[in-house]
Amino acid sequence: MENTSYQVLLYYQYVHIENPEEFAAEHLRFCNELGLKGRILVANEGINGTVSGSVEQTEQYMQAMKQDPRFADMVFKIDESTQHAFKKMHVRPRKELVTLRLEDDVNPLELTGNYLEPKEFYEKMQEEDTVVIDARNDYEYDLGHFRGAVKPDINNFRELPDWIRNNKEILEGKKILTYCTGGIRCEKFSGWLKQEGFEDVSQLHGGIVTYGKDPEAKGQLWDGQCYVFDNRISVPVNQVEHVIVGKDHFSGEPCERYVNCANPECNKKILSSEENEHFYMRGCSHECRTHPRNRYVKEHELTEEEVEQRLKNIEERNNVVNG
Ligand SMILES: [Zn+2]
Repeated sequence: MENTSYQVLLYYQYVHIENPEEFAAEHLRFCNELGLKGRILVANEGINGTVSGSVEQTEQYMQAMKQDPRFADMVFKIDESTQHAFKKMHVRPRKELVTLRLEDDVNPLELTGNYLEPKEFYEKMQEEDTVVIDARNDYEYDLGHFRGAVKPDINNFRELPDWIRNNKEILEGKKILTYCTGGIRCEKFSGWLKQEGFEDVSQLHGGIVTYGKDPEAKGQLWDGQCYVFDNRISVPVNQVEHVIVGKDHFSGEPCERYVNCANPECNKKILSSEENEHFYMRGCSHECRTHPRNRYVKEHELTEEEVEQRLKNIEERNNVVNG
């Protein structure tokens, strides 16, 4: 039987936290005592975390958090795991939990979109005059997304407001549905959309992660995988069918395997088969492949001659493809 004695928790709560620096330092001590690993952000506006540990450690953590009135109602999304999903434990104070780079920041406790439970989202998604908009980064969308969802052409969440203002016609007069991994980005984004004057704005409560576990929605109409910010990199969502939408950076073939470009100055996330990773020395471009600090070349201790040979092979393949 598979050993699933670990758990990965994902959670957030918008609630006033008086002194984020002090809170973070104390919370780090507490997490280390428990033996958790993960990443937690703390700001005046609340907390956002993802941690892993043994079942006992994570249960202890949730219990302790729920005794604090500020986090009594906090929802924990729990994934079973066979090991830790992080290498270290970080708790960092921040100005904001999620950054939309707004002149007037939105407080989701005062203004946010309607919450839709997974089944409601599934049904509303299929209604006419509905537009589904992905509130995540491009590399998250590329690995998986709701069928037909709009992909804002942005590299970072903070560019989203500008993109919406420049593409208003997509949303005007429509029922707008937003979604993100765990729900935290949508709390702010949907509030911002309302502040911008869009009237019918709803958000997927609990995010994609909750949607994939829901016994009624069963993750349906989700294509691909859900990108997650831990060692697992991706988790399944659709329990009924698996349509691969990710495309290999080099060949365009269906692919769901992310690697980082081996040029440390680029470090871009690219989808690549294992075979192509080796063939292209994990470089997203010729410049990155030939970068003097290419990590792939170092890891595999390739000699100059070997690198030359690989570059020649790549050139030959490109000629075949282009010719
Ligand atoms: Zn690169």
